[in-house]
Amino acid sequence: MNVHSFDAIVVGGGGAGLYAALALSQGKVSTAVLSKLYPTRSHTGAAQGGIGAALANREEDHPEWHMFDTVKGSDYLADQDAVQILCEEAVTTVYELEHLGLPFNRTPDGKIDQRRFGGHTKDHGKSPVQRACFAADRTGHMILQTLYQQCIKNEVTFFDEFHAVDLIMKDGVCCGVVAYSIEKGDLHVFHTKAVLFATGGSGRMFKITSNAHALTGDGMAIALRNGVPLEDMEFFQFHPTGIYKMGILLTEACRGEGGILRNRKGERFMERYAPTIKDLAPRDIVSRCIYLEVRDGNGIDGKDYVHLDLTILGKEVIKKKLPDIDDFVRTYMGLDPSRDLVPIQPTAHYAMGGIPANVRSEVVKDEKNTVLKGFYAAGECACVSVHGANRLGTNSLVDILVFGRRAGLSMADYCKGSDYTPLPSDPLGPTQETIARLRSQNSGERTAALRDQLQSVMMDKCGVFRTESGLQEARSEVLKLKDRYSRLAISDKSQVFNSDLLDAMELGNLMDLSLVTVEAALARQESRGAHYREDYPKRNDAQWLKHSLASMSHGAVRLNYKNVVITQFQPQERKY
Ligand SMILES: Cc1cc2nc3c(=O)[nH]c(=O)nc-3n(C[C@H](O)[C@H](O)[C@H](O)COP(=O)(O)OP(=O)(O)OC[C@H]3O[C@@H](n4cnc5c(N)ncnc54)[C@H](O)[C@@H]3O)c2cc1C
Repeated sequence: MNVHSFDAIVVGGGGAGLYAALALSQGKVSTAVLSKLYPTRSHTGAAQGGIGAALANREEDHPEWHMFDTVKGSDYLADQDAVQILCEEAVTTVYELEHLGLPFNRTPDGKIDQRRFGGHTKDHGKSPVQRACFAADRTGHMILQTLYQQCIKNEVTFFDEFHAVDLIMKDGVCCGVVAYSIEKGDLHVFHTKAVLFATGGSGRMFKITSNAHALTGDGMAIALRNGVPLEDMEFFQFHPTGIYKMGILLTEACRGEGGILRNRKGERFMERYAPTIKDLAPRDIVSRCIYLEVRDGNGIDGKDYVHLDLTILGKEVIKKKLPDIDDFVRTYMGLDPSRDLVPIQPTAHYAMGGIPANVRSEVVKDEKNTVLKGFYAAGECACVSVHGANRLGTNSLVDILVFGRRAGLSMADYCKGSDYTPLPSDPLGPTQETIARLRSQNSGERTAALRDQLQSVMMDKCGVFRTESGLQEARSEVLKLKDRYSRLAISDKSQVFNSDLLDAMELGNLMDLSLVTVEAALARQESRGAHYREDYPKRNDAQWLKHSLASMSHGAVRLNYKNVVITQFQPQERKY
């Protein structure tokens, strides 16, 4: 058996994992990062538009205004104690990144530049505010490169292209990870005092998505199978501006810089729905409005898309502040955004739900917030919850860094005060069985076909608009697909770089997460944030101002609920 020992194991080399690893190594804790991708290929590197922090470099701003916007944007489901930490520590985090060498865009007088973004406002909703700090439209790329360099400098050990497949638990304590080496095809045991999951999102559940191929929710699914309930999985964000049919993201910064949405008649329709902040309303609202326009026959050429108009920005602004967007539109559409209107439609973008964690990034396993010793989660795979029912743009980069760093600090504390829990006798057993089963079948169902069907069901029946009957159909179809998945056969039987096997394991994760998402959405008989039920179009605080916790045993989902933490802002009607 290949056994490695490190005081702390971080699974995931995106922004959350790397910031945690940096904090751990600075705390002199022996740390290894496992990542199925080479770290700098993590999805954080695709983040375009910016990171929100109330620096007030362009105009008056305060962390308290940022907090108000985040809570209102979340449709009052976010935990306000956590949001306060998010917005206050956003400011120090951005300055720390600057000191670590991140090349932010600058104002003429040399400060970090800031721009507008959806849902971020001045003085509790009066008008849009410039809060997003950015490095052109490559903010995430710069964050990832900066943190990776710092990790190398601080001698963090990396296991690149190691795919985590299971947690190792003993007597209710998490004491390791089982990982599959993609290069060699063998299994490794990582024995440790503390494990962090920073494995990112699960957007590949849906057919049209902005998410990279690797975003299959592995960490969430592994936690679920180990008895950790997943929180608020019914809330999945659709970003309004994905390239039509492809889902490739055109950042909200396009509208932050002044771009607008237009329907078939050329009308700026968001003026009707959100008179104060118009095209910069939060994403859940704008995505719904696009579909409402389409239903009213206002889609372009009667189809299911509208236009993003960037022509009003002019060539200069596009080249300087949105160079990658310019490139994407030219490459994928053959259009020139300074001259042509760009066809867009909502694209599955961000998981608000995930592994429940407290503000120290410790995983909690029930509605009483009991800590699961030795297990931590941060970044998109976690639910703290700072985004509630709908995340504001730029707040994920804040979340992954603030809570990634906090995870590193709390793990360092924990490692210093605790010993290794001995490994169970056969930590590889269950994983070996799963892999042997997948390899042994010669004929049967194929991964690609099942995945396509799953993604279509989720897109059509568990997307922007949901109904009881649609969700019931989704449930029965997902259950059938799960059953067919048990008869999956892979054709590549080799050991080395077996992507067939990896795809199959990832699909298993997507299946479990889809089922949990559908069940939680079916149960929630109200509309809140990204979860919109046509049969229950109103928010219902009396019954539903609570987080869902979905657990799974023997393939069946059970739902529990826990309270939302409200400190400063009582729920109000959400008008923009
Ligand atoms: C196109 C796009 C643009 C975006 N723009 C913005 C923006 O401007 N501002 C903003 O705030 N947010 C933005 N977001 C959201 C934000 O980028 C992500 O939510 C965030 O970067 C997630 O970071 P993370 O560290 O949690 O995960 P990721 O960066 O996704 O990293 C996940 C890591 O986990 C590893 N991993 C996963 N599964 C396994 C496994 N089984 N075994 C081993 N390793 C594993 C991967 O290798 C990877 O290293 C954007 C998202 C997209 C898709």
